Amino acid sequence: MTSAFGAPTLVWFRQDLRLSDNPALRAAAERGAPIVPLYLLDEETPGDWRPGGASRWWLHHALERLGENLAGKGLRLLLRRGAATQAIPSLVGELGAERVVWNRCYEPWAIRRDREIEARLKQANIAVESFAGNVLHEPWTVETGAGKPYSVYTPFWRAIKDRPVEAPLKAPGEMQAGPQAAGERLEDWGLLPRSPDWAGGLRETWTPGEAGARGRLGAFLQHRVDRYGRDRDRPDMDGTSGLSPHLHWGEITARQVWHATQRHLADTGGSAEDAWSFLNELGWRDFAQHLLYHWPSLPDETWKPQFRDFPWREDARAYRAWCRGQTGYPIVDAGMRQLYAIGWMHNRVRMIVGSFLVKDLMIHWREGERWFWDTLVDADAASNASQWQWVAGCGADAAPYFRIFNPVTQGEKFDPSGAYVRKWVPEIAQLPDRFLHKPWEAPAQVLQRAGVELGVTYPRPLVDHKEARRAALAAFEGVKKGAA
Ligand SMILES: Cc1cc2nc3c(=O)[nH]c(=O)nc-3n(C[C@H](O)[C@H](O)[C@H](O)COP(=O)(O)OP(=O)(O)OC[C@H]3O[C@@H](n4cnc5c(N)ncnc54)[C@H](O)[C@@H]3O)c2cc1C
Repeated sequence: MTSAFGAPTLVWFRQDLRLSDNPALRAAAERGAPIVPLYLLDEETPGDWRPGGASRWWLHHALERLGENLAGKGLRLLLRRGAATQAIPSLVGELGAERVVWNRCYEPWAIRRDREIEARLKQANIAVESFAGNVLHEPWTVETGAGKPYSVYTPFWRAIKDRPVEAPLKAPGEMQAGPQAAGERLEDWGLLPRSPDWAGGLRETWTPGEAGARGRLGAFLQHRVDRYGRDRDRPDMDGTSGLSPHLHWGEITARQVWHATQRHLADTGGSAEDAWSFLNELGWRDFAQHLLYHWPSLPDETWKPQFRDFPWREDARAYRAWCRGQTGYPIVDAGMRQLYAIGWMHNRVRMIVGSFLVKDLMIHWREGERWFWDTLVDADAASNASQWQWVAGCGADAAPYFRIFNPVTQGEKFDPSGAYVRKWVPEIAQLPDRFLHKPWEAPAQVLQRAGVELGVTYPRPLVDHKEARRAALAAFEGVKKGAA
């Protein structure tokens, strides 16, 4: 299958569904040999960590866009399905490829897989080259003075804040197509929901693909970054970038976002404080990758050993109520319904619903992590696991366990007009502001006038927050004593 122009290079796309700032694609293009771009639906990914429903929806559309963009450069995206450790070497043989390139991923299962494939290919005298993945700095390049990984964020951020970030690469021009191999059809992968079709809210909210990512970044820099510090905690406002799914799928890189933000600041003389507060979040993203790389059991295992004996409760009814946004706490329910409707939830509300699950309901953080994995379009093994452990108080540099979010005061503080709750929990929208975050305190006539019948049209609180808090703290004391 070798073409007249030499043996082809296989460019294996994974979480880098873009043409610009794509070091692997760029290197392949610069070599000048024909290129075969591949996306492989990897059946070897461990079951729990295969893309969840919302991620599969995203992937479908992202691959459509990637295919179009590659076609614009003269290449046809090859789609295959299979166990990567077998499928990649076998495809290399089929194509007569002499080189395979990819951008690195940092999940432990991806690292294991890539090492195995690299060893097999090298044994067969196939060149393998991998490049930096979608981070500001690769996880092993940041270390403490003692040569150890960081487990606390502030010094990690101090170490990277002023470090130069690699300048993004331009997309290659026209490329030479390698031999055609038989591929699969995206429609046959069944990534989109059939019946029921729950993806209406996702379609209305998101534009997967590289152009969609660029559009979001542009709009954010133009309209919101200069108010980021003030608005970022307000779920009732459009105050954050909404870039997380694009970053997860590598439709845009952290390097591109970093440099574009710096450029915006230099060109407009905008608010440095706000811009840095935003860049700091990219720092958190790198920190999550750093933690996952150095502690590969992070998605499955409680990081602080003393929490491994925590008396988590099994309560299927309470868990179902939480998943469905039927806990009777309006800010929690609004967040969980936003998540289900559009595949994304505001960061502040993620912390509130997380705290409610692990502290008020005392349900294991892993249950929350799994639900998020299935329902988030930005589901990311590193950020999801590290943030769930942060919320639960058992992770690296986590919120102290005894800091338990009060869902009423959090709602009143961060959704002061109630616009967020009214949007996602319409059955209580007619309640006056002062009862919106605590309908159970409203007098009977007020409830009646608002058309609310507690326990019928909207649930009564699943637990009493004060009591739940006491129980959680008592359990925590037990864990502390046990560990002493
Ligand atoms: C329980 C819980 C689970 C989470 N799970 C995920 C997840 O699976 N995937 C995910 O991308 N984020 C996760 N986050 C972090 C955060 O909520 C989202 O990244 C953020 O809400 C995305 O919205 P945005 O793009 O508008 O963020 P912005 O505020 O615009 O921030 C810019 C970017 O910085 C990164 N970022 C922001 N906050 C964090 C953070 N706390 N930790 C790591 N990276 C961050 C994201 O890539 C984000 O796109 C989780 C947070 C919590 C509390």
